[in-house]
Amino acid sequence: MERREQLYIGKAKSVFSTDDPDLYIMHYRNDTSAFDGTKVEKLANKGSVNNFFNAFIMQKLAEEGIKSHFVKVLNSTDSLVHRLQMIPVECVVRNIAAGSLSRRYGIAEGTVINPPTFEFFLKNDVLHDPMINDYHIIAFGWATTEQIAAMKALTFRVNQVLKALFLEAGMLLVDYKLEFGIYKGELVLGDEFSPDGCRIWDKDSHKKMDKDRFRQDLGNVIEAYKEVGERLGIDFSISP
Ligand code: C5P
Repeated sequence: MERREQLYIGKAKSVFSTDDPDLYIMHYRNDTSAFDGTKVEKLANKGSVNNFFNAFIMQKLAEEGIKSHFVKVLNSTDSLVHRLQMIPVECVVRNIAAGSLSRRYGIAEGTVINPPTFEFFLKNDVLHDPMINDYHIIAFGWATTEQIAAMKALTFRVNQVLKALFLEAGMLLVDYKLEFGIYKGELVLGDEFSPDGCRIWDKDSHKKMDKDRFRQDLGNVIEAYKEVGERLGIDFSISP
């Protein structure tokens, strides 16, 4: 499957059309951004690490019956995906307080959140991804009531699967962001799951192993991403 036209350039990935109108190629770049794109750097190997990381997670989720747009890895930085009609909201589940939740509500980082919380954000860089609720989503036509229910159920289902997966490998899944889209009438997981869009801490030391290393200038960003993957059993040396 060959890349045709570049359709979209995001902050870390680009999307290309293919000869098949139902299939896109998602290209993972080394670009790393934070704070609404105001801090940007290229980190060597990030594209391929996230491509393989995402493939591993999407396959694990598929084994648990959670469908996504992921089809297969094409090469070290590209994966084939189904074309989705994306819903412009981000779904965030949190198991442990950190980041914007700690800042917004004054909850100390590391506080266990039980039961986990769910938040919707509007995917809009210009508006700085504001937090929204179900009423906004319905009133402004971003998704239907049924789609809202499905996004919540699937995001929590992902939590069940991934929290256990990370814990078995000695890590805590602190929080994560998911995006969904519609494929042939069905709501499925889109975008990616990688250390760019979640927080992962070592279970005992609480060492940060995710994009907070970049946000907070902690260094060894991609080394940490790889360590997370290797603990999960991902072999980053294989080429498809
Ligand atoms: O910044 P905040 O604490 O709200 O982020 C919650 C989780 O969602 C984090 O894991 C963060 O990496 C992820 N996130 C993301 N993309 C955004 C906003 C948050 O991947 N635009």
